[in-house]
Amino acid sequence: MRRPVARSLAVLAASAAMVSVGAAAPPSAGAAEKVPVAVGYGGAVASVDADASAAGIEVLKNGGNAVDAAVATAAALGVTEPYSAGVGGGGYFVYYDAKSRKVHTVDGRETAPLTADENLFVEDGKPVPFADAVTSGLGVGTPGTPATWQEALDSWGSKPLGSLLKPAERLARNGFTVDATFRSQTESNQARFADFPDTADLFLPGGALPVVGSTFKNPDLARTYRELGRRGVDAMYHGELGRDIVDTVNDPPVDPASGRVARPGELTLKDLAAYEAKRQAPTKTSYRGLKVYSIAPSSSGGTTVGEALNILERTDLSRASEVRYLHRFIEASRIAFADRGRWVGDPAFEDVPAKELLSQRYADSRACLIKDTAVLTSPLAPGDPRHPAACNTAGTAAPTTYEGENTTHLTAADKWGNVVAYTLTIEQTGGSGITVPGRGFLLNNELTDFSFTPASPGVHDPNLPGPGKRPRSSIAPTIVLDRHDRPVVALGSPGGATIITTVLQTLTGFVDRGLPLVDVIAAPRASQRNQTTTELEPGLWNSPLRARLESLGHGFRQNPEIGAATGVQRLPDGKWLAAAERVRRGGGSAMVVRPGR
Ligand code: GLU
Repeated sequence: MRRPVARSLAVLAASAAMVSVGAAAPPSAGAAEKVPVAVGYGGAVASVDADASAAGIEVLKNGGNAVDAAVATAAALGVTEPYSAGVGGGGYFVYYDAKSRKVHTVDGRETAPLTADENLFVEDGKPVPFADAVTSGLGVGTPGTPATWQEALDSWGSKPLGSLLKPAERLARNGFTVDATFRSQTESNQARFADFPDTADLFLPGGALPVVGSTFKNPDLARTYRELGRRGVDAMYHGELGRDIVDTVNDPPVDPASGRVARPGELTLKDLAAYEAKRQAPTKTSYRGLKVYSIAPSSSGGTTVGEALNILERTDLSRASEVRYLHRFIEASRIAFADRGRWVGDPAFEDVPAKELLSQRYADSRACLIKDTAVLTSPLAPGDPRHPAACNTAGTAAPTTYEGENTTHLTAADKWGNVVAYTLTIEQTGGSGITVPGRGFLLNNELTDFSFTPASPGVHDPNLPGPGKRPRSSIAPTIVLDRHDRPVVALGSPGGATIITTVLQTLTGFVDRGLPLVDVIAAPRASQRNQTTTELEPGLWNSPLRARLESLGHGFRQNPEIGAATGVQRLPDGKWLAAAERVRRGGGSAMVVRPGR
């Protein structure tokens, strides 16, 4: 994903300010006021957007539970964050049930068409250029988001979908206030949006970028929500809405004068009818006496964060110097990513050793690769989790394949103590760039999360496309419980493969380094994904820590902004603390039902 220079500079300046003074971002022009932290009773919601958090709070106030609130917030994000989330995409939903003290998940990942094979992105023996695959019908997977909402509501919700879509429908009809982030995200997509008349009509009103402070309305999306509310999600999986999606994917409505080749995809009504949001068991990792639950494959989030935590468990990070802490965090991420690349794919198609990847024995066998005075070389070879051998690697080192990075994460909690961590996505910022005509939403490009060709020639890659297969994700909505299975904290982030390192850094910052949740979310991030260099946000790049880490052998490159986390924390007396970004993406929005100290 390319970022506009203006935004990168703003982010740079903002991050530098954040490190030195920790100032909160000013609320965006005209929008509902955003605050990055809120404490109180009755439940809490944290998301990147104030209107979306408010939609969840409205549901909680009306007696809804955390699942209801999460669905309402997600639907509102489909309006105000249409480039990150919406009914044209997918995601992963993690739920803690206070009554049974158990964690459940829904895998709502998009699927490849039933006609796809491992050459989905190969033409004349060559991989399709990444950018061409992104802006095409070829990259569009069967959307999973409406099915996820319905599955979560059927399982644990208390209100009908139709009522939960109301706040979002209202927001779409009456409009929301354009902020600088929305404008800059539109700007970075302007060239390709302009090539699709339906997308241009919606997101480039009058051929221009939406003006900051203006009101942005999406009546088509309001109608789509109303239809989903009235007819249920069958409108998408067995109805007219589905037919419109299929037509759009098979014949992308590109302006012929633009000269753009938008490859068609082969999605059919059969694909939509066959779609299933899957209830499945979470991953579970014990860490410092806590239980860390996250999402199991088809996402690599839970297994990779979990393996890295297990690797880190043998070091006392609470007493380590900042340099040693960062060094260990970077090396644990590197190792866990080497294993992720080799072993994780859609378990319906691949024999994924998820349990073994999460065993402490395996983590110990990998942890002994880490030295305090030297840096491991990437690409590092994977180990074999089924046959842990001390300090060993097995097989061929493969580079981490490129994955786009933009999504949105929300966290919600209610007065009964239920918690939801939910990350939803349309993949790139702006997804495929293709709007379903008359429907008001963009289609995802999630299938570009597949490897186009094997990451390492001649070695089995578990993430090649297949019929009905789910591309490997990095999404990692995480809920941490104490020894009595009571919630401690829940969090998550967008950011493609950086999600894993952001969740890991946030968890260790909170659990080991003892930082308040809002501060650990704001802290400058590093991301190592089994690559030669580690990405640093400006706050670390410009800090003396960089030179100290370089003297150990670390190499770095800059990334202006990594992730956009949100979380909720359970405080004593039934209080909740909601936390979001202070600066990234213009700051996030934390809200509680009844504020109170
Ligand atoms: N497609 C990405 C993934 O599933 C999500 C994109 C993002 O979170 O930024 O890993």
